[in-house]
Amino acid sequence: MESQNVKGTKDIFNKEAEMFEYVETVMKSIAATYGFKDMRPPLLEHSEVFSRAVGESSDVVRKEMYTFLDKGGRSLTLRPEFTAGIMRLIVQNKLYATEDLPIKAYYHGPVFRYERPQLGRYRQFNQFGVESVGVNSYFHDVEVILLGYITLLNLGFEGLKLKINTLGDDESRTNYKNALKAFFEDKIANMCEDCKQRYEINPLRILDCKVPADQEIVKSAPKMRDYLSKESQIRFNHVLQELEQSGIEYEVDDTLVRGLDYYSETVFEFHFVSDKGVNYGAIGAGGHYDKLVKEMGGPSLEGVGFSFGIERVVSVMQDNNLFEGILSDQSLDAYIIPMDPLYNTNALDVALALRANGYRVEVPYDGGKVASLIKKANRKGARIAIFIGEEEIRSDSLSIKDLKFNKQENIALGDLLTYVDEIFNEHECQCKNEEDKGEQCCCKQKDKE
Ligand code: AMP
Repeated sequence: MESQNVKGTKDIFNKEAEMFEYVETVMKSIAATYGFKDMRPPLLEHSEVFSRAVGESSDVVRKEMYTFLDKGGRSLTLRPEFTAGIMRLIVQNKLYATEDLPIKAYYHGPVFRYERPQLGRYRQFNQFGVESVGVNSYFHDVEVILLGYITLLNLGFEGLKLKINTLGDDESRTNYKNALKAFFEDKIANMCEDCKQRYEINPLRILDCKVPADQEIVKSAPKMRDYLSKESQIRFNHVLQELEQSGIEYEVDDTLVRGLDYYSETVFEFHFVSDKGVNYGAIGAGGHYDKLVKEMGGPSLEGVGFSFGIERVVSVMQDNNLFEGILSDQSLDAYIIPMDPLYNTNALDVALALRANGYRVEVPYDGGKVASLIKKANRKGARIAIFIGEEEIRSDSLSIKDLKFNKQENIALGDLLTYVDEIFNEHECQCKNEEDKGEQCCCKQKDKE
């Protein structure tokens, strides 16, 4: 049996799982302040959802999709991104007719791309993103960019770089593609096989080429800005002005065309370079689109969205100590030790009573020496150990040891919650003056206010 994980996938567990949870919680809560709501399309879609939306000329569709025939002979694909599935969901459920526009969705979960695995590049990775669908005003582009930017700032990213460009409207892109075709006409024979295909299907994609020799040629290719329609130029200027107004620094990057075919007008990427000069590349990206909903069989609605790669966000945060002091304490509160398997049922009862009141509790039902069980309780960070033995059962009581102060007391079973609550809500006196300490101390009074 193969016991290794599949190449390009990653096990996420223990502390790292807490990090993912933290990052996703922050992202969700900030997206909610912009009015975005949870949307969960399935992981599997009919392959044509992606080939139609993401585009036949994109690398994702041409080379990277996990596509297979199911037992009924249908061609299905594990989602390589979320936007197409969200559009399919909106159209199929006619949300554009039943919901107020714009429809604002956030999503998160795994996506799959058959890429060459390397640092920060996986075949299964997680994305968190948003889509705002049914929008006309360029302010929606601005809001979505602000949301992404502010989310990363909240996570502690200092040194964030927003790269932005415009792909213009249909007219601008047609003119630009023609200019690219003319430019590459006498060069394409010497370029890579992929570029030859890109030249035929969509010359814009040549600008994404990673082959160094081709990248050199691309450097002197015509620039989108020289082919923008007046309307697109004005729209882009407005977006930039609003970003400046909001105090967001940006860099207009002519070469930014995004690898997915559905974008029009504004496109952007969030890049990060650490204090130490490590360049982590794009940790999130997105843009505006105008044909996706129609492509899925719906009305002609525009939209804008972006997605973060959560693995990249987490790894930047790990490398730059951005998790320090912010992960919630997951340690145990109580460890209940039955002194004999006979008392396992009693231990379970006590555990349930404490858990019902929000305490984190475990019981070592498989037994062991008391000394080693106490060590285990300490390793798990438990504040108290509760012993249940013959004497406790006979007298309807429990022996509770405060592991922090190494103090043990026997209490009546009926006093369990009051006693435990007191330990956990204990007041740690901050008073400088010894005489102030005790019941009437000033900081205790402050706590009550
Ligand atoms: P995209 O859907 O291609 O616009 O990618 C959005 C974000 O997902 C990128 O900015 C990356 O942070 C992340 N990402 C894309 N591809 C990968 C990958 N193969 N492995 C890990 N993260 C990725």
